[in-house]
Amino acid sequence: SGDRQPPGDELRAEYAQLAEEVRAHRTAYYQDAAPTISDAEFDTLFRRLEELEALHPEIVANDSPTQEVGGEVSAAFTPVDHLARMYSLEDVFSLDELRAWLDRAAAGVEERSPGARIAWLTELKIDGLAVNLLYRDGELVRAATRGDGVTGEDITHNVLTIASVPQRLAGSDHPEEVEIRGEVFFPTKEFAQLNERMVAAGKAPFANPRNAAAGSLRQKDPAMTAERPLDMYVHGIGARTGLAAETQSETYELLKAWGLPTSPYYRVLATQDEVVDFIGHYGEHRHDLLHEIDGIVVKVDSFALQRALGHTSRVPRWSVAYKYPPEEVNTRLLDILVNV
Ligand code: NAD
Repeated sequence: SGDRQPPGDELRAEYAQLAEEVRAHRTAYYQDAAPTISDAEFDTLFRRLEELEALHPEIVANDSPTQEVGGEVSAAFTPVDHLARMYSLEDVFSLDELRAWLDRAAAGVEERSPGARIAWLTELKIDGLAVNLLYRDGELVRAATRGDGVTGEDITHNVLTIASVPQRLAGSDHPEEVEIRGEVFFPTKEFAQLNERMVAAGKAPFANPRNAAAGSLRQKDPAMTAERPLDMYVHGIGARTGLAAETQSETYELLKAWGLPTSPYYRVLATQDEVVDFIGHYGEHRHDLLHEIDGIVVKVDSFALQRALGHTSRVPRWSVAYKYPPEEVNTRLLDILVNV
């Protein structure tokens, strides 16, 4: 196709326009919690940008949305730097793509650590807001949004209103310092009730539980946040001093023992087929959960192998998100798909 020729003015213009469009949608989504297109539509635009860059590496701009974690810090909050960077996730949209990703990760591991066996940790991709909790000597000293991955927004007082987030960790064997990452979400059942109340009060309802979670958590007044039934599951770890764990799943057991809210749904699996079965299972049961999910996350369980695989500037190379197909395909999406 024409795509394989050197990039002409037309292609460069398309690329610049698409990058601009993606940036504007990110601002609407992260800053204003008011997206104007669906996530599936956004993913299609983002994917097109990635495809153009893969075909024409010479056009990739340093500030391309594909090179950065999406999200900015609003002037309404105090900016705080994370101790260790926060990342996004690489997405795949079909089981074929997922298997190809798992093969590539396994090949990467084999190259760096010959003979190592990979255990795949699979868990639910919670549709909420990424938050970083900093505990020092077992005490919650700071909570921040992901922001651009380097700098987030200080939302400590708001997070302290979430009942499932402990101000003090249980037990006594805590690390000196540890960053714990997770997802704050708006439980689905309460979300329906919230929207009924909003409509009854003549206010605009939230588009989805994720927006409700973001809107509730990023309040100037923590008393407003306290009125919303937010919940959280932790699913990651950043900087740490004095944490004795070799794997992601061992870490979850530690976090759970300290009273942190870990998801009951994760599994450690040995084969691709088991990973695919896990995806099938939650594809059928995605509406029987406490919270909405938009996919499944697969992680290499071993920290040593995670380190061996490393990161890009946007995503870890040891983890991937499988996204379920959108539940309602709208006509705009079809238009975009037809045009690519
Ligand atoms: P992402 O949501 O696809 O994936 C990364 C995030 O997943 C992580 O930061 C983490 O917080 C979260 N996550 C949830 N469960 C997790 C788990 N078990 N383990 C690890 N991480 C987990 O990527 P993103 O960069 O946050 O944003 C992209 C998403 O936002 C896409 O879904 C996209 O469609 C949507 N978006 C939509 C618009 C729009 O206009 N509709 C605009 C921008 C982004």
